[in-house]
Amino acid sequence: MSITNQNNPFYSRTDDTRLHVTNAEWKNILPADLYHVAREQGTERAFTGQYWDSEEIGTYYCAVCGNQLFKSDAKFASSCGWPSFFETVKPGSVIYKEDKSYGMRRVEVTCGRCDSHLGHIFEDGPAPTFKRFCMNGVSLEFEPEQQ
Ligand code: FE
Repeated sequence: MSITNQNNPFYSRTDDTRLHVTNAEWKNILPADLYHVAREQGTERAFTGQYWDSEEIGTYYCAVCGNQLFKSDAKFASSCGWPSFFETVKPGSVIYKEDKSYGMRRVEVTCGRCDSHLGHIFEDGPAPTFKRFCMNGVSLEFEPEQQ
């Protein structure tokens, strides 16, 4: 699932300049399922998305813009049904926002480059960080490590 970016002029794995792209523009570029999660704060159903049970070695990028987000060595087997990580690749990879929707107080995680919705972060992850980045699989793009 790595060819979501064929006609996406904003996609880059090397340029980390902040993007300011309107939803109208994104809607013309992104597949509908990705647009819904990334730009409308949608959530894929647990155990239905990609990567939640993957143990492959490699790197996870933002499916919207190509920003590097997570390494597989920070991924852990979570029973929640979404791909889960205990830390990002680097501090600026993501942005944290208070989310009071659905009568809950949660912390939303968005992409540090394109500000697309990725998922939420919870405080019940494993050592050493005890964080759980609970991500939508559709928002991620996995690149296996070259042997
Ligand atoms: Fe992004």
